[in-house]
Order: sequence, then C-alpha cells, then structure tokens
Amino acid sequence: MSPCQSCGACCASFRVDFSVHELLSQGGSVPDGLAVEVNGQLARMRGTDHAPPRCAALTGRLGEQVACGIYEWRCSPCREFEAGSDACGRARARLGLPTLEGGLH
Ligand code: SF4
Ligand code: SF4
Repeated sequence: MSPCQSCGACCASFRVDFSVHELLSQGGSVPDGLAVEVNGQLARMRGTDHAPPRCAALTGRLGEQVACGIYEWRCSPCREFEAGSDACGRARARLGLPTLEGGLH
C-alpha cells in the first residue's frame, strides 16, 4: 500500500494552483466545482487556501486513511508531487509523521 493512503498531508498543507485549462469546462479533467478561479490564468483546488488548508477532493482522516476523490482527474501539481520529496517531508512533519525513506509512490 502506498504511504500516501495513510497520510494526505500534502493535500492539507499547500495551496494547489494550476492552469485553468486543466478544468473540465476548459477541456481538462478537474471538476470545476472542486476548484476556485484565482484569475483568468489560474485555478486553485477548493479548500487549499483555507486555514487550516484541506483540499475539498480529499476524503478520509489525515494521517490515518485518506483518498483523493478525483485521483484519475487530479491536476498536474498533484500528479507531479513526489512522495519522499522535501515538500512531502515538510507536510508530514506538520502532522507529526516521520519523513519517508525514499521516493516511494
Ligand atoms: S506525497 Fe508525502 S505528504 Fe503527500 S500523501 Fe504522500 S506521503 Fe503524504
Ligand atoms: S486533488 Fe487530490 S491529490 Fe490534489 S490536493 Fe486534492 S486531494 Fe490531494
């Protein structure tokens, strides 16, 4: 099982911005209702700029069992985020979780 399935920290730590062209309505795959438009160029996953942040697409309990409700349709920053990266380690530290050993995914 991926360590991400019992984590979710990155989905509840960072603002997640992406091109509006990734929105379903603009020919992409991200459901518009789960995003907010920042400007004519950028959209943001809903909830990721809240305090505390938490992406509206994330289901489950952080640090226990989580899932991305739009995994196959998620935006490029989510696809590119690397488990085991420095940013992953920082997000996990916020939840009190240890950093991963390597770049597992
Ligand atoms: S990439 Fe890192 S912070 Fe994100 S869910 Fe996976 S283990 Fe957690
Ligand atoms: S779209 Fe999915 S992978 Fe991306 S931040 Fe939201 S819950 Fe996490």
